[in-house]
Amino acid sequence: MTDTVVVLGAGYAGAGAVQQLEDELNGSTEIVWVSDTDYHLVLHESHRVIRDPSIQHKITIPVEEIKSPATTFVEGEVTNLDVDDREVELADGDTIDYDYALVALGSQTAYYGIPGLEEHSLTLKSLDDALEIHEQVKAAAQDATRSDPAEVVIGGAGLSGIQSAGEVAEFRDKHNAPIEITLVEALEEIFPPGSDEIQRALREKLEAAGVNILTDDPITEATADAIEFDERDAIDYDVFVWTGGVTGRDAMAGAELDNEHNRINAASTFETSDERVFAIGDSAVIDQGENPAPPTAQAAWQAAEVAGENLARAIDGRPLKTWAHKDKGTVISIGDEAVACDVDPGFGAGRLFEPIGSFGGLPAETLKKVIAARWIADLTSWNRARKAWDAL
Ligand code: NAD
Repeated sequence: MTDTVVVLGAGYAGAGAVQQLEDELNGSTEIVWVSDTDYHLVLHESHRVIRDPSIQHKITIPVEEIKSPATTFVEGEVTNLDVDDREVELADGDTIDYDYALVALGSQTAYYGIPGLEEHSLTLKSLDDALEIHEQVKAAAQDATRSDPAEVVIGGAGLSGIQSAGEVAEFRDKHNAPIEITLVEALEEIFPPGSDEIQRALREKLEAAGVNILTDDPITEATADAIEFDERDAIDYDVFVWTGGVTGRDAMAGAELDNEHNRINAASTFETSDERVFAIGDSAVIDQGENPAPPTAQAAWQAAEVAGENLARAIDGRPLKTWAHKDKGTVISIGDEAVACDVDPGFGAGRLFEPIGSFGGLPAETLKKVIAARWIADLTSWNRARKAWDAL
């Protein structure tokens, strides 16, 4: 009987792994691909939709354009993985049997138990989230005046928060809208993992874009119209976006797999505590020695290729490959501008040169576009990537 491999999720990890599996398995094994959307979202560019929803089709790629006709796609929300019965459970009550499963469900917003946060904030983890932020910013601006502007507060100044602030500023400028933007960070400086140089460059660009920055004081509570802090006085808001971090999917809470906050522990081969389940991307905590692989698109994209190959190897009983994450650097947008940091000039082909600490201007803006365009081209075609170029 033919084996069935089920891939859960259509993010970078899932989409990449499906294509790799199709190449590796060559029709010998049935591939079933499950996702709650029938498209792949280029998530690291989703903030662009806050400024302009009309670009959404440029950063969403229908699964039909990604998979081969032989792969079966099921649109459904995964609610559990029953490793004993080897079945995937869906919200509509349906189940899918598997011989091997690859968990690539991504992450969800973390609220850390902060009172009122989940109830009152908007998030940025899907296309619908980005559209909702756009709608709420637009509506708040329509009700506002120059003397009483719409207050948009963004909580958490990691990449999601910084890039969202940049897009709200672009929306404000494009529509000459009365909007005040405040970016809030618990730690001493925005983009805490960055070097002083990067943090300074990001701060300069955000301030030049008219974003107020409040650091060194965590949000401790959210109410229907205000954000409260540990030390500072509360601030009122009309729109509150929470980008304070990510955690594992609730859908994996009941799966009997070793995990950390619903992110599944995986070896550098992507094997988990169950021999028939592999895990990659933000869904997994992938052993890389001292520190696990980061929950980034870059890591998921890299991992997908090896994970697809390893699943094929596991089915054939061949030895598995180990994966080593290579950090090629980060490019961060502030509206149409960008800052690049720790970019590997060898693009991951071994660190032939020292990484470039920081640069901005046209090289950084172009690099940001090239990265997203390359991903779209890898999944589909350069023609599709070319059409998306101006939105990236
Ligand atoms: P993050 O965890 O990187 O940043 C969250 C920020 O919120 C942190 O700086 C944290 O200190 C702050 N924070 C936490 N609790 C707070 C509180 N109570 N009050 C105020 N601030 C608080 O989250 P993210 O930006 O969503 O990114 C998640 C992952 O995705 C990261 O690994 C990131 O690199 C990656 N990512 C990449 C891109 C890209 O374009 N390459 C875009 C978005 C996200």
